[in-house]
Amino acid sequence: MEGLEFENFEISEELKKAIKDMGFKKASFIQQETIPLILQGKDVIGQSQTGTGKTAAFGIPIVEMIKETDKEVQSIVLSPTRELAIQIAEELRKLSKYKKGVNILAVYGGQPIEKQLRELKNDPQIVIGTPGRLKDHVIRGTISLDSIKTVVLDEADEMLDMGFRDEIEFILRRIPKIRQTILFSATMPRSMFNITKRYQKDPVYVKAVKKELTVKKIDQYYVETREEQKCEVLARLLDMYNPRLSLVFVNTKRKVEEVVLSLRLRGYLVDGLQGDMSQVQRDVVMQRFRDSKMDVLVATDVAARGIDVSNVDVVFNYDIPQDLEYYVHRIGRTGRAGRAGRSFTFATYKDSRKIKEIESYSNAKIIQHKIPAMFDIEDMKSNKLLNNIKEVIKDGNDNKYESVVDQLIQQDYKAIDIAKALINMYGGGTNTSNLFDDLDLSNTGARDGMVRLFINIGKEKGIGPKDIISTASREVGIDNKAIGSIRVYDNFSFVEVPEEYAQEFVFIMRNREIRGNKINVEPAKRK
Ligand code: ADP
Ligand code: MG
Repeated sequence: MEGLEFENFEISEELKKAIKDMGFKKASFIQQETIPLILQGKDVIGQSQTGTGKTAAFGIPIVEMIKETDKEVQSIVLSPTRELAIQIAEELRKLSKYKKGVNILAVYGGQPIEKQLRELKNDPQIVIGTPGRLKDHVIRGTISLDSIKTVVLDEADEMLDMGFRDEIEFILRRIPKIRQTILFSATMPRSMFNITKRYQKDPVYVKAVKKELTVKKIDQYYVETREEQKCEVLARLLDMYNPRLSLVFVNTKRKVEEVVLSLRLRGYLVDGLQGDMSQVQRDVVMQRFRDSKMDVLVATDVAARGIDVSNVDVVFNYDIPQDLEYYVHRIGRTGRAGRAGRSFTFATYKDSRKIKEIESYSNAKIIQHKIPAMFDIEDMKSNKLLNNIKEVIKDGNDNKYESVVDQLIQQDYKAIDIAKALINMYGGGTNTSNLFDDLDLSNTGARDGMVRLFINIGKEKGIGPKDIISTASREVGIDNKAIGSIRVYDNFSFVEVPEEYAQEFVFIMRNREIRGNKINVEPAKRK
């Protein structure tokens, strides 16, 4: 039965044409089995491995079922991460290419809510979102669930893993009872059956029998970066994805030492392997590696050869491999049994052709990944922190601390302030102020989509626009081209930055120096 051509599906010509444009000919097993069921209006559980096309399995029927003339939200898709939400939105937009009048919107944390509010005015019929942000919109009343016909939980196992259970249930409880509830997942942990029992009606469970893949599934990304930025980018990716074990490849022995040192300064547990080390030294490193006393191992290709460094969560090509063959060897080290691996290749602008070469050599797709912005990382971290707190509360809090808190309350401290202070102490260097403070960036006199910021130094300290640009791109990771107008006066300056960077720009730059001068940054006031 497997491998039915999309041409023969009972779907509209518009959809068929779009699918053809996407280069899909035959349906995967999960698509073939679930698409007709979803089109019949059934509740469905679809389980299949990563990479088997689950997005299109729900995307095709959802797009097909949308009424273009109806301008209300008809479908929502819950997705575990912002990246995934964006990817799903892109795929659904491609599917609706010939179905004019279908609007699709992704909403997620870290993006200014104002931007989403503006986009919501375009009356999207399909909204894809992370559970937390969707819940926010529901509470604010900016997304109404009243007219939802179909709700999809995508990568449901991951959402539960990430602790989104409460948000998911919050949303599901508010969608009209007469609806279609669809769930896709790579695995079906027991906790998921509770959800399906409670929120699905006679679901049809389709499970694709696991097929052995000849190649391990590795999600491959490249990040455009300048040489001087690489270490900052590496640190941000480590913070963002928080892998248990990473392998970083560099091209020279000296680089091994450099990267080890700068990661150590940033507080990572890191070791290096390079060709000049004695056997004893190498054994020590490998032992620490096996004992999990290390987060990151930095190595050259030669040093890594012949040692058992596999099963790492993420491989970083800090330097692009000199030999195409190395690329395949390097990334082959990632991917734990049964799980997809990840690789990030850092590419300076002169490497961009190399990426194309590697793609065609290894017959793989290497997708561009943005340099994570600080707010992504804060988002991720605050989410984890919240979950930890919830866990601790659930596990039964220790009573012996009650008297301490009581004393503070007696002295008229507010519970919220005590909690904030504790998180600050516990947060160990993360900018937890982001969790609570919201700068007012709404009225700075910048053009649309930008925010104008005030910096308290200018020409008198020898500052020029170049200094501001280079500091911003080095410290905040903003692309030079994305920075708007810069005005430098005698004692102060103004700079316009894209709004998604503004918050972060202020927080980071407040603690930085330009030409030896400590600076302060604030949102500008409209003239
Ligand atoms: P999953 O959610 O199961 O991990 P995705 O939906 O992300 O998988 O799809 C994995 C990749 O396969 C995507 O690049 C997608 O465009 C592609 N794909 C999906 N369906 C088909 C198909 N029928 N034919 C060819 N490629 C497909
Ligand atoms: Mg998927």
